[in-house]
Amino acid sequence: MSSLKVLPLLLLFHTQLFKAFPVSSQPKGEKNIEVVQNYLEKFYQLPKDVYQSERKNSASVIVEKLKEMQQFFGLTVTGKPNAETLEMMQKPRCGVPDTGEFMLTPGYPRWKHTNLTYRIINYTPQLSEDDVEAAIKKAFQVWSDVSPLSFTKASQGEADINIAFVQGAHGDNSPFDGPNGILAHAFQPGQGIGGDAHFDAEETWTKTSENYNLFLVAAHEFGHSLGLSHSSDPGALMYPNYAFSETSTYLLPQDDINGIQAIYGPSDNPVQPTGPSTPTACDPRLTFDAITTLRGEILFFKDKYFWRRHPQLRRVELNFISLFWPSLPTGIQAAYEDSDRDLVFLFKGNQYWALNGYDIQQGYPKDISNYGFPSNVQAIDAAVSYRTKTYFFVNNQFWRYDNERQSMEPGYPKSIASTFQGIDSRVDAVFQENDFFLFFSGPRYYAFNLNGRRVTGVDRSIRWLNCR
Ligand SMILES: [Zn+2]
Ligand SMILES: [Zn+2]
Repeated sequence: MSSLKVLPLLLLFHTQLFKAFPVSSQPKGEKNIEVVQNYLEKFYQLPKDVYQSERKNSASVIVEKLKEMQQFFGLTVTGKPNAETLEMMQKPRCGVPDTGEFMLTPGYPRWKHTNLTYRIINYTPQLSEDDVEAAIKKAFQVWSDVSPLSFTKASQGEADINIAFVQGAHGDNSPFDGPNGILAHAFQPGQGIGGDAHFDAEETWTKTSENYNLFLVAAHEFGHSLGLSHSSDPGALMYPNYAFSETSTYLLPQDDINGIQAIYGPSDNPVQPTGPSTPTACDPRLTFDAITTLRGEILFFKDKYFWRRHPQLRRVELNFISLFWPSLPTGIQAAYEDSDRDLVFLFKGNQYWALNGYDIQQGYPKDISNYGFPSNVQAIDAAVSYRTKTYFFVNNQFWRYDNERQSMEPGYPKSIASTFQGIDSRVDAVFQENDFFLFFSGPRYYAFNLNGRRVTGVDRSIRWLNCR
């Protein structure tokens, strides 16, 4: 039964992420070969005529390039174009290759001066000129905030970095491909076209979470304009694939700060800026913000990310919360699934949201006082639903809510340790599997058997992410 319930969600994720490329209608074989060949030619320096050349040789070249690509994206390195590899190849991304030189200039070019100029050659009709200028200015500021570089807008004459919206073939041997696919590209520092950034005029450019946010793409491209190449850190700005991230409070990730400072040195600011680091699944100190099941999968929330664990495949993948639910905040604190209603509830502070699959339900966020919490409860540590009751954990106490009557049960809160013997420290996250509550506290989890009413196992949390 549970395997049947998993399927619709996976399909929904497909249609959401790959609108431009309906996976179901794809005649296997030829079309896949075309996708693979195209991708490896563009981003992994696969020679264009490899298919015409000697068959035996070309096959091994493709296997090697595929392995290189799988390695870069942290996929299982098989050298075969399997489903996860094809999925990755269909995501919207930057046009700059992941390996090799995009520009003819060899070596690691950098600007010799730090007071750089830029010029906006033309605009996109989808945003006002003011909005474009604001997005570009802010995108440069991302880099000037953490380095000795400064950026001044020039309205005429020669500028170091020229910014243009262009479409199709536009004279630099790297044609754009219409909506989705390649979004933009930029050239490494140098004379002439060096440093210039081109944006595909056929994309929908926005200043919101809708695809594609100009500020985020521009900030990425300017990284290339300054001499950075792609990062394999999925949380880095210089990761090749597009991912939305909250722009009003945007902080440049540490991986990118390290990159730009390796070229130009530290910021002039006496207090060196720092940025968020991407959590690594196998860090033994890793803790979770919240965990819930969702139609048979398990979601582990951490900062602006979540890991999805597939029940049968046991495969674990890291995703951005914003990629699935652009309007959700980062730092989710508690989550539970009400499988009778096919809803997942997510909590942060005194607000909560209801999800059906990847759809946020109308009328949310709501205030947690709706559940009947007293006003001194302003946040939930962890939550789990089991047999029509929902358990809410706050500090060393818990409440029990009746899902059918839709009211808090009398006699609560109770002490966690008195009811769940062996759970003595604060609960970060909890979810239910079979007849167990899996309590997560710090870097450990406790398997609490609901029939025996005792802890039957303790282990490292990261075991759930397939780490030893
Ligand atoms: Zn790029
Ligand atoms: Zn171009």
